[in-house]
Amino acid sequence: MMKFRCSYCNKSYSRESWYDKHKQTCVKQARFEQTHRLDFMRGLALFKHWRVRQRMLRKGEEISDEKFINSHLYNSFMKLAEFTTTNWVISSMKYMDYLIDHRIAESKWMKEETLRSYHDNIRLREDPIRQTKTTCEAIQNWCKKNNMDTREFFTKITPNTALKMVINNQISPWVLFGYDRAVTELLARVNDDWLHTANEYINNTHWINKLRDAHITKQAIQVECDRLFTNS
Ligand SMILES: [Zn+2]
Repeated sequence: MMKFRCSYCNKSYSRESWYDKHKQTCVKQARFEQTHRLDFMRGLALFKHWRVRQRMLRKGEEISDEKFINSHLYNSFMKLAEFTTTNWVISSMKYMDYLIDHRIAESKWMKEETLRSYHDNIRLREDPIRQTKTTCEAIQNWCKKNNMDTREFFTKITPNTALKMVINNQISPWVLFGYDRAVTELLARVNDDWLHTANEYINNTHWINKLRDAHITKQAIQVECDRLFTNS
C-alpha cells in the first residue's frame, strides 16, 4: 500500500521516512515554492510602495513578512501582483502609482475598465520617445518568448497578435503610425475590421494627425526603432 503521496509530483511511498526524504529533493515542490516566493515578494514590494506613497512608511524602511501577511490588504496586493503579471503594464509600480494618483478605490484595482484607462492615460500623457522605448522593450520581450527575430517582427507578426499588443499598449500608436516599417510591413497587411477595432481603442485619426504635425518626433521615433528593428 502506497500511503504517502507527494502532491507536487504524484510519486507515492509506502514509508513515511522515504516520503520525508523525497520532500527534500522533489524538484517540482522546489519550483512551486520558488514561484510562490517570487509572487510573495512582488506582492510585498507593491504593499511597501503603496505604504510609502500613503506616508505610512519611510522610503527604504522594511516591512516584515508577518506584517504583510496580517494586513487586511494582503489578498488585494497578492492579486494585484498577479494581475500586473498576467496583464501587460509598463511595470507593476507604475500601475500602482496610477491607481494612487487617480484615487482608484481598491475594489476597482483589477477591473478591466481601470486597466483600460491606465493604458489610455499612458498613451496620452507619456512622451513619445519614452513610449517608443517601452514599445521596443515589449516587442523585444515578445520576440524572445516566441523565438522570433526582432528584425522580422513587423513582417511576420500576425495582425491578430499585433492588435492585442496595440490594445494593451505594448505597441504604442506613436510606433504603429509613426515608424516606417510598422506602416509598410504591418499596417499594409491589416484589413478594415482590424483598423476599426484598433480605432475603438486608440482613435487612429488622433495619432495620424499628431504625427503629421510632429516631424522631429517622427524622426526620433524612426531612429529609436531602427536601432532595434534593422540592426542585430
Ligand atoms: Zn514530489
